[in-house]
Amino acid sequence: NREWHLLSRPVGWPKPEDFALVETEVPTPREGQVLVRNKYLSVDPYMRGRMSAAKSYTAPFELGKVMQGGAVGEVIESNAEGIAAGDHVLHFFGWREYAVMDAKHAVKVDPEAAPLSTYLGVLGMTGLTAYAGLLRTASFKEGDVVFVSGAAGAVGSQVGQIAKLKGASRVIGSAGSDEKVKLLVEEYGFDAAFNYKNGAVSDQLREAAPDGIDVYFDNVGGDHLEAAIGSLREGGRIAVCGMISVYNNTEPAPGPKNLARLIQTRGRIEGFLVGDHYDLQPQFVQEVGPWVASGQLKYRETVVEGIENNLEAFLGVLRGDNTGKMIVKL
Ligand code: NDP
Repeated sequence: NREWHLLSRPVGWPKPEDFALVETEVPTPREGQVLVRNKYLSVDPYMRGRMSAAKSYTAPFELGKVMQGGAVGEVIESNAEGIAAGDHVLHFFGWREYAVMDAKHAVKVDPEAAPLSTYLGVLGMTGLTAYAGLLRTASFKEGDVVFVSGAAGAVGSQVGQIAKLKGASRVIGSAGSDEKVKLLVEEYGFDAAFNYKNGAVSDQLREAAPDGIDVYFDNVGGDHLEAAIGSLREGGRIAVCGMISVYNNTEPAPGPKNLARLIQTRGRIEGFLVGDHYDLQPQFVQEVGPWVASGQLKYRETVVEGIENNLEAFLGVLRGDNTGKMIVKL
């Protein structure tokens, strides 16, 4: 069994020396436990936060120990009722080849119903994040003009498409390459998109949404957030999902300079965590599952092969190497 340990807490951009791929014995399941061979591992931006010691909504990864993350695998030995060898399960013991867990931490998934990797992405945590953040936190309603950043990523691509499918009057996305921008417009049906590296976000947003925006779904923070506040219409809503532009900062980033605009617009800005919205999971699967199955909602995955490339895949997400959900295939 090979597993990734955190050796030291990264300062700024994580460096390879902060991590080690360690060889250990394949663990043995006790009564009530299952042994799982992982097939797909998730790497997500929030993991950067868990590498730091700062207090947050989840505990920091422990130094010298295996890291954690979403994963899907096959049960190869079961000492638990209700789960048998050969079953596939979604669980939280990623960054390793083999995992032992109490059966209560393993959720059975059906490999016939959807490709296994989708339980980590379009039908999984990032999908629910898009759904809950847009519909609940941003109180999306038909006719809204919606702007989403990180729009070619796992969460962002789904936000834009759900908004379109639910009757947004205009959907605008931003992403970090011209290819991603093309994908948004030509394949995902965004009405407009721009490359934030090609000019000031505020100018490009004003051009794409001359009459302003009702909803901003923030995956990025920084200039994007300031630009969105500047384009907010009366009654506008901003759902703060992530701020990936600041995750590797060593100093606190400056805040938006134009917050006073929230007064004129009666605008609202609100952060959310997907973990608080799992009550929406059945509704999410019921509504979004058929869109994915029929191809009305499209998704991409960037698949990196091999446990030895797990760290590079994670760093790749922070750099923008991915289009759609970044997945590690074992
Ligand atoms: P993505 O698939 O969107 O991957 C991250 C993307 O961020 C990269 O592909 C890159 O795309 C973009 N990016 C990186 N650096 C910058 C930068 N400086 N400025 C603008 N864009 C940048 O990841 P996810 O879909 O998994 O996550 C998206 C966001 O949602 C993250 O901020 C994450 O932390 C957050 N999140 C929050 C949750 C919650 O419960 N609140 C749950 C899940 C995710 P590009 O090429 O376009 O730059």
